[in-house]
Amino acid sequence: MAIESLIPATSRSNEKEQRNTYMATVAPVMSLEQEKNPWQAQATRFDFAAKKLNLDPGIWKILSYPTREIIVHIPVQMDDGSIEVFTGYRVQHSISRGPAKGGIRYAPDVSLDEVRALASWMTWKCAVVNIPFGGAKGGIICDPKKMSQGELERMTRRYTASLIEFIGPEKDVPAPDMNTNEQTMAWIMDTYSMHMGQTCNAVVTGKPVSLGGSKGRREATGRGVSVMCDEALKYLGMTIEGCRVIVQGFGNVGSNAAAILYQKGYTIIGITEWDGALYNEQGIDVPGLIEHRKLAGTINGFAKAESVDKDELITRRCEILVPAATENVITSENADRLRCRILCEGANGPTTSVADEILETKNIFVMPDILANAGGVTASYFEWVQDRMGYFWTEAEVNQRLDAIMTEAFRDVVGYAETHKVNNRIAAYMLAIDRVAYTTKQRGMYA
Ligand code: NAD
Repeated sequence: MAIESLIPATSRSNEKEQRNTYMATVAPVMSLEQEKNPWQAQATRFDFAAKKLNLDPGIWKILSYPTREIIVHIPVQMDDGSIEVFTGYRVQHSISRGPAKGGIRYAPDVSLDEVRALASWMTWKCAVVNIPFGGAKGGIICDPKKMSQGELERMTRRYTASLIEFIGPEKDVPAPDMNTNEQTMAWIMDTYSMHMGQTCNAVVTGKPVSLGGSKGRREATGRGVSVMCDEALKYLGMTIEGCRVIVQGFGNVGSNAAAILYQKGYTIIGITEWDGALYNEQGIDVPGLIEHRKLAGTINGFAKAESVDKDELITRRCEILVPAATENVITSENADRLRCRILCEGANGPTTSVADEILETKNIFVMPDILANAGGVTASYFEWVQDRMGYFWTEAEVNQRLDAIMTEAFRDVVGYAETHKVNNRIAAYMLAIDRVAYTTKQRGMYA
């Protein structure tokens, strides 16, 4: 695909230039705490890629800041009659290429820096797969495991009401993320619609299919991960036969990725969760494990696999490691122990920038998050399009379009990596920044 670019072709590729490394530029001054700060992680890669692109200093400054950061304090009546106040965030990083787009997560350790980082990753992700959205993310500091459905519903509705003037089908379109789901999206859609006086299903994606959700959305991130694995194998001259996979996290992304890879003939030898891990060198029966988890509420106790240590499992030899749980699981503390050939990042921000460098010296082929897990937002884009048309596609159509976009994005990123002699992560950032910079410049400065 032709890439619209601000950067003259001559300065975009410099064959003679030595590979700069993050280590040389940032590691000596970065503590472990800084290394694990997600905003720092994205800023390090952004600055590195921007420098490689020779990015215009003004555009560099604009893209270094989120466009808008909203903090809300949400009073909620709990089931016992007491009042709790929860803090929520919505950060819109960029609206240069279209409405802001990104999930909402509920977790006790949500922070503004994390939401900022996740919002900017959404900007880069949407640009990598070339869909007309900017980037946003939201979060509420809460412990959903300790809250009833009624408490979660009241909190979600009040959070939505607090953001009412900032979200909307043409402004900012939320979606599920960690600990939020189709039901959460249905509550947001309903609250927004009540305020507007009409049903507005395009205000969120990841809704139930009966409320304007898209077929295939639930599985889309895992499906995209599987397409990345297929493409990486082809690119590296490897085959699915004998390809051993370890998956960290068995939630939406991890369980769907594992199930689809299993269906395609990959051998899933390991699966980890927050409370345990399973290993079977011959391959885990993934559909059987999904059934077991439904009944037992945990992956633990599954008879057809050995129970092992979860931190050690991700360092075992395999062809593909899929982190699909959370941030900062591959750091300077464990990156040198990984023994995978391919790292396919289902989660957002699983790898720190210092770990990137270690993986590069180990020749691990990294499918970075902003490429590898972009299947979710791509299917969300399809959902938004279908809602606005009022005409819905079959699951086969959704999957076919998804596969095509993901395959093209893979080729764009590895093509960029080859041309510019950078690793896949920096290539994905460069491609994305280049696209966003182009539209930012085209739109011009409103003063
Ligand atoms: P989820 O809550 O459905 O699943 C996450 C799973 O990881 C849970 O089962 C949780 O118990 C487990 N987990 C948590 N900490 C763990 C640990 N230390 N080790 C092993 N397992 C652990 O969330 P999800 O939607 O699957 O999201 C997972 C990741 O993927 C997040 O980083 C999210 O931002 C990213 N992501 C999600 C989507 C999507 O469509 N859901 C799209 C793109 C990226």
